[in-house]
Amino acid sequence: MRVLALIEHDRGQLAEVALQAIGLAQHLGATEVDALVCGSVDDAVVAALGNYGATRVWLATHESFTDYDPESWGDTLAQLATRIAPDAVVAVADERGGEVLAHAAAILDLPLAANVLSATPSDGAWPVTRVRWGGSLVENASLDAPTKLISGAAHVFSATATGGTAPIETFTPELSPSAGRTRVTDRITLASGITLTTAAVVVSGGRGVGSPEGFARLEELAELVQGAVGCSRVVTNNGWRPHSDQVGQTGKRIAPELYIACGISGAIQHWVGMMAAKRVLAINTDAGAPMVTKADYAVIGDLHAVLPAISAEIRRRKG
Ligand code: FAD
Repeated sequence: MRVLALIEHDRGQLAEVALQAIGLAQHLGATEVDALVCGSVDDAVVAALGNYGATRVWLATHESFTDYDPESWGDTLAQLATRIAPDAVVAVADERGGEVLAHAAAILDLPLAANVLSATPSDGAWPVTRVRWGGSLVENASLDAPTKLISGAAHVFSATATGGTAPIETFTPELSPSAGRTRVTDRITLASGITLTTAAVVVSGGRGVGSPEGFARLEELAELVQGAVGCSRVVTNNGWRPHSDQVGQTGKRIAPELYIACGISGAIQHWVGMMAAKRVLAINTDAGAPMVTKADYAVIGDLHAVLPAISAEIRRRKG
């Protein structure tokens, strides 16, 4: 079983989800994992890919690879798939992985199973289970194609270290002059240091916070635990926080070690954004709220009393 995996990176830095594409290849039982990197990365990245199970690293070079460019990356993925004829081509179903694999699918004229939770390789069509409608339903489907194109739901597949080393192959795609129409050309840094998508602890607020000023208590706790603040859509709709803080189907999908949901009911559209959290602590006045019933820990009470108490205790223990 040979699987070609798209490796996401940002200007040479492996994306947080990058190795999950290899994890998906391992889930499929791949004996050969070809990892494709579009653009330049350093030796440490190649070593990490080998260590986590890539059996070959394809470094695609082209003058157009100056920054993220979904059309060129998709075309490159399609061209490499045509060249090496893998059984499957995989990526992570985040914004970039999903976008690149969709371009590749269109170019190859092949079906794509997106947001897959599991897939079972077989001689004919592959049974797949995938998330649909923002996580509100799980679908059993069948993927029938000569080459299976699959994006794995984010934070579902983790790569197992094999301790291997992967030989490097270089690959120069033939890209049309029209490729690169949507290339990233400039960036504005809105946040530095710990961000919502990288924080180990996220303190998130919903309607129950009551006002923009109410978020001061969440900010205080987040600072004490070196975390980040998130929120629900009601909060962004009310203009209490920017959309960049929103967690959920139409916000960010995150996987912190601990998600502290303060005054958030736990609607499915919110849940899909944080369901990959390792632990959930709900603080809510309603013991029957879905967030409370699904959480690992819950405190039933007014967040405006509970949060200062938690912060005070952390401060006391820190001395
Ligand atoms: P509510 O549902 O009103 O819940 C407030 C909670 O606060 C309640 O559980 C209440 O008991 C508790 N509470 C009240 N006061 C206190 C207090 N003092 N202390 C403690 N607890 C208190 N939502 C998202 O969050 N993210 C998305 O990306 C998203 N995308 C959507 C996409 C679509 C297409 C649709 C239709 C909806 C989407 N939504 C999204 C909205 C979602 O359906 C919910 O409406 C929303 O998540 C509810 O936000 P909430 O939990 O803050 O508010």
